[in-house]
Amino acid sequence: MTPTVTRAGELPDGDPYDVTVIGGGVVGTAIARELAKYPLRTALVEASDDIGNGTSKANTAILHTGFDAVPGSLEAGLVREGQRLLAEYAAGTGIPVERVGALLVAWDDEQRAVLPALLAKAERNGYHAARLLDADELYDREPRLGPGALGALEVPDESVICPWTTPLAYATQAVLAGVHLHLDCRVLHIDTGPDTHTLTTSRGPLRTRYLVNAAGLYADEIDRHLGHDTFTVTPRRGQLMVFDKLARDLVRHILLPVPTSAGKGVLVAPTVFGNVLLGPTSEDLGDKSDTASTADGLHFLREKGRRILPELLDEEVTAVYAGLRAATGQEDYRIQDHPDQRYVTVGGIRSTGLTASLAIGAHVTGLLTRTGLELGTARELPGITMPNLGEASPRPYLRADLIDRDPAYGTIVCHCERVTLGEIRDALNATVPARSLDGLRRRTRARGGRCQGFSCGPAVRALFEEARP
Ligand SMILES: Cc1cc2nc3c(=O)[nH]c(=O)nc-3n(C[C@H](O)[C@H](O)[C@H](O)COP(=O)(O)OP(=O)(O)OC[C@H]3O[C@@H](n4cnc5c(N)ncnc54)[C@H](O)[C@@H]3O)c2cc1C
Repeated sequence: MTPTVTRAGELPDGDPYDVTVIGGGVVGTAIARELAKYPLRTALVEASDDIGNGTSKANTAILHTGFDAVPGSLEAGLVREGQRLLAEYAAGTGIPVERVGALLVAWDDEQRAVLPALLAKAERNGYHAARLLDADELYDREPRLGPGALGALEVPDESVICPWTTPLAYATQAVLAGVHLHLDCRVLHIDTGPDTHTLTTSRGPLRTRYLVNAAGLYADEIDRHLGHDTFTVTPRRGQLMVFDKLARDLVRHILLPVPTSAGKGVLVAPTVFGNVLLGPTSEDLGDKSDTASTADGLHFLREKGRRILPELLDEEVTAVYAGLRAATGQEDYRIQDHPDQRYVTVGGIRSTGLTASLAIGAHVTGLLTRTGLELGTARELPGITMPNLGEASPRPYLRADLIDRDPAYGTIVCHCERVTLGEIRDALNATVPARSLDGLRRRTRARGGRCQGFSCGPAVRALFEEARP
């Protein structure tokens, strides 16, 4: 089967799709991957030029245990199940994950008094490995922690994961199994008839029997096209700072604050790429495209970071970025089936969607059957192995076996991140290929290091231009 990934021209004419998923973020690609297990004609339509290009590209990349979710909520269940599924999937497909564990640090008596309640909450969420640490144990675990911490809750299974390889793996597997991926394809209007929906897109009409709305920040707007007015998405910006790899030895765990009603707060966390993250902020905005970093935001993060890990602030900053959570005024996901319309809304996937993605995919597929979709008999998905972007296992430039077979894996193009010619070539020719320099960075790390492309930029651009169809 020839994989179908389109970016221009009219959409394929002919019979309507059985199911169309709107939105190629980590959630939409996970749903498409789940549907790909069945003999259905499925389409995934994405407004931008790549999958994982919205909120999914800019998060804190933590594979949560869900220890602190609201017990009994839909989110709690899907995060717990999603964590299990994604950890297993990552091990099978080569998505980088590091089980570094988290410490929720109490900095005053009030916070310390909350820790037992958090432990009890973790237990209510079915997570039984958490335990309380006194100050001595805490400083044994994290010797560079700032002075004055009184204790912590240890959550040993919290992990860091590659946020970019995850949706790419889902999309790759879905496309290999026959899902049509249509990029640069924004849904502008929806007409719902008795048997089919007709989507007016920026690339012409698309007809589909069943519809899934996984449009992230725009899920409320898609919902209104179908006549529903039950929630409004408020973008909640999270700014983050990425510290240089020289900072990596300063921290061993994900260092979390004790959460408050204002949210999870500012953390310090290692990344699978060998950097250290500080963030995020939490700011409600009116503009769904405002991913700017601000002087105030970065100042706020520096102040918070100085308390948590004072030496971190002496290290170089490699990059700053911001992501927008899809807040809806409800502390739970807004996943809803509409059987009379053969339609499922997947809204309000706020701060845990990366972790929960595979479980959301399975849950939404179940809801589609409630709306009348007949799935048919499930089949095995094609096996895939994703390129390794993580530092915990050998990258291609370290692998003599690969370099022996193909010297391009021994030719380094991006020296900061040790990205080779072979990896760039592969990303440009992959099932879901990189179609922009940013897309190439998310697939290889090229131009993402300390010099931010100052040194390798021209060479990477030349390779990109050469491969452009
Ligand atoms: C700062 C921050 C930190 C976070 N940290 C974590 C974390 O550590 N762990 C974790 O599990 N989660 C985390 N999250 C949450 C996680 O990133 C999100 O839940 C997840 O990325 C949401 O994915 P999505 O697919 O719903 O949305 P998106 O990734 O935004 O995807 C939606 C897609 O729909 C497309 N679209 C929109 N409108 C249309 C249209 N009309 N037509 C076609 N396409 C359309 C968009 O272009 C976009 O690509 C964090 C989020 C933020 C912002």
